[in-house]
Amino acid sequence: MVVAGAGMAGLVAAARLRELGHHPVVREKGTRAGGSMLLSSGVIWRHRDWSEFRRECHGGDERLQRVVWERLDDAIAWLVSKGAPVVWEDTGNPRTIGKRFEPRGIVEALASEIEHDADGCDGEAAILCTGGFAASSELVTRYIAPSGSLRLRAAPWSEGDGLRFALGRGAGLSSAMNQFYGRNMPDASWDETQLVALSQLYGRFARIFDADGVEFFSRDDVSWSETNVVQATARRRGAKAFYLLDGEALEQRVRDRTVAEMVEAAPAETRVALGDLPFEPPAGAVQAVRVIASITHTIGGLRVDERAHVLREDGTPVDGLWAAGVDAGGIAGGGYASGLAQALVQGLVAAEDAAS
Ligand SMILES: Cc1cc2nc3c(=O)[nH]c(=O)nc-3n(C[C@H](O)[C@H](O)[C@H](O)COP(=O)(O)OP(=O)(O)OC[C@H]3O[C@@H](n4cnc5c(N)ncnc54)[C@H](O)[C@@H]3O)c2cc1C
Repeated sequence: MVVAGAGMAGLVAAARLRELGHHPVVREKGTRAGGSMLLSSGVIWRHRDWSEFRRECHGGDERLQRVVWERLDDAIAWLVSKGAPVVWEDTGNPRTIGKRFEPRGIVEALASEIEHDADGCDGEAAILCTGGFAASSELVTRYIAPSGSLRLRAAPWSEGDGLRFALGRGAGLSSAMNQFYGRNMPDASWDETQLVALSQLYGRFARIFDADGVEFFSRDDVSWSETNVVQATARRRGAKAFYLLDGEALEQRVRDRTVAEMVEAAPAETRVALGDLPFEPPAGAVQAVRVIASITHTIGGLRVDERAHVLREDGTPVDGLWAAGVDAGGIAGGGYASGLAQALVQGLVAAEDAAS
């Protein structure tokens, strides 16, 4: 049994297979284990309320969502039992339940021997955990079709290898192929150590304009995860926007930071003087920030069933092929759900099914 990818889903699947008495070969394309999980905030969560999950991710497959929602609490207990270090006992968000883990500690707790290999997917039986296709501009253009290049806000190796491999074996695609999870980031250069600190997570308090001066999104419509405004930004010219803030907006808090602090963290060249805007600013605005839509991971992917088995378009399984984590699509369509939770639960499910 091959496990392709040693990020969240792959490490979990391999650890569970070993626990069940198997000896999987784990192949990793990147220069280190951990994938995007290692860069993440480590909050593994589910919606507190099933109906809220369904309402928010209304475009997702209800049967897949059920598996993640029902199995997550036990899956988190399993991860803790493996020695993954918990940083917070809750998520700090009243809508959600879960825990925050230390990402490096997850890698250490689940570590195994890893073969570094350019294409880890090949194998008669394989669990695909290659993290989707956010890092492939070709696939992002084909499926997401943004109006400008999206900046990558994730590890650089998830180029759709699992997707291409499975399509070659007859797999079908999930819904929501044009959707992604990401953040609006300052339109400047940044590196992987700044992915969380530089996020401009205050669309809900801003007036939001595109480069042509069109106010294209109302702050009242910004979802709590802000995924919808990022996806809308991707569809404006250059995949860019300007956030315009008044004095009251700057004082608002999002989690542990004020909006003013998030603005201050943005590189100076993205804090645009009002007189330099390519349009007339709205009355009351005191601050403008130029942001660019940035992709963390894709939401659509391979079609799978509740056992994480890869399916063809007609719903029949592709023999010997499972997909877990971002490689598997169809869960968070229409909204946002924890990518780490999906990877954890589907990693376990895929391993258990493959082992049986
Ligand atoms: C800054 C940031 C913050 C985040 N915060 C959170 C959070 O708090 N909560 C949350 O739920 N999610 C968060 N996420 C998202 C989360 O990290 C992902 O949803 C999760 O890592 C997905 O797991 P995965 O196993 O599918 O992909 P990954 O963890 O990215 O692993 C994929 C692995 O596959 C490897 N790979 C790719 N191609 C091949 C190939 N051909 N052969 C072998 N290996 C291959 C990659 O190198 C990588 O190691 C965050 C992400 C980022 C970047």
